[in-house]
Amino acid sequence: MVNQHHEIYDVTIVGGGPVGLFTAFYSGMREMKTKIIEYLPFLGGKVPYFYPEKMIRDIGGIPNISGEKLTEQLVEQAMTFNPSVVLNEQCTELEQRDDGIFVLKSDNGSMHYTRTVILATGFGTLKSIKLDVANANEFEGNNLHYTPKRMAHYKGKHVLISGGGNSAVDWANELGAIADQVTLVYRKTDFSGIESHISKMKNSSVNVKTPYIISGLSGKSGQVEQAELRNLETMKTESLSIDEIIVNHGFEIDIGPISRWGIQMENGTILVNGNMETSIPGIFAVGDIANYQHKLPLIAGGFNDGPIAVNRAKQFIHPDKELTHLFSTNYDFSK
Ligand SMILES: Cc1cc2nc3c(=O)[nH]c(=O)nc-3n(C[C@H](O)[C@H](O)[C@H](O)COP(=O)(O)OP(=O)(O)OC[C@H]3O[C@@H](n4cnc5c(N)ncnc54)[C@H](O)[C@@H]3O)c2cc1C
Repeated sequence: MVNQHHEIYDVTIVGGGPVGLFTAFYSGMREMKTKIIEYLPFLGGKVPYFYPEKMIRDIGGIPNISGEKLTEQLVEQAMTFNPSVVLNEQCTELEQRDDGIFVLKSDNGSMHYTRTVILATGFGTLKSIKLDVANANEFEGNNLHYTPKRMAHYKGKHVLISGGGNSAVDWANELGAIADQVTLVYRKTDFSGIESHISKMKNSSVNVKTPYIISGLSGKSGQVEQAELRNLETMKTESLSIDEIIVNHGFEIDIGPISRWGIQMENGTILVNGNMETSIPGIFAVGDIANYQHKLPLIAGGFNDGPIAVNRAKQFIHPDKELTHLFSTNYDFSK
């Protein structure tokens, strides 16, 4: 069903990654009515998508934290001021009405009305490259995964991994220690990626098969049971019984819709000034998508972008009011 959200928000943050989440917290603390719109069915952006179980060690004051824990804490912090959260929607169109209100339209037809927009879209929406096997979607989300589940899920199982990049090799190495058996197929013979990780995999119990692809799948009740593997040199096929499949063929980034909104961009990123203002007044960009001199694509850097954008958004909405700086230690969280 298409929702028409006629309520007007002060700030609408497109993208619920780490930077969008922290920006939502800060926007709430500046007492602005805030909404987050996220394409994925979950919040956290690249962190839970790519590295939920990896340790992050380059955020000040946090010596180490897993991607999953960081996401959990960011979501908790972002919800402090109860922003509206819309999941499973890709913002595809943006217009500005004569009265200055921005109208964001999503891929499902929903409309969102807002005084300012903060784009925290990373490099765009993340879409995994799908396995090129006709019936693959029958098993997707059951025991065929594009974004792997928690490690413990694979304990004692026979896991088939398809792919040859860093992520596929990392997964093979990590699962080698926990799964009953790991088989990795890759269509080329030379792996790209970090050499030490590749050597570790080749010298481990992981059954590495190159140049091989998954050419067929069979199973029942939505569960893959057998994978057909094709040797691309001999073109012979063989069958393998498996419990789980992880497909790691990379992902496509769809910056698409935003690049058509008339905002000045460079190499797939949005040009901003020191106030995180884009070329369209009232639209700001923060995090990985924001491009300014000496920009580093780090989570910690994005945490600085957000408050700057929020403060400017507040001034944009209330041009006559003087904006004083606000520390969280000065804010009354009991009200
Ligand atoms: C493997 C890997 C390891 C990393 N390790 C570290 C590390 O150790 N330390 C560190 O600081 N950084 C690390 N990074 C970088 C870090 O993940 C990024 O800098 C960070 O995620 C940027 O946050 P963001 O919120 O700007 O964007 P993202 O995390 O990319 O989130 C953007 C969100 O916007 C959504 N979106 C995009 N377009 C739309 C749209 N049109 N409509 C609705 N939603 C949309 C996307 O679905 C996504 O969820 C790593 C990155 C990778 C890939």
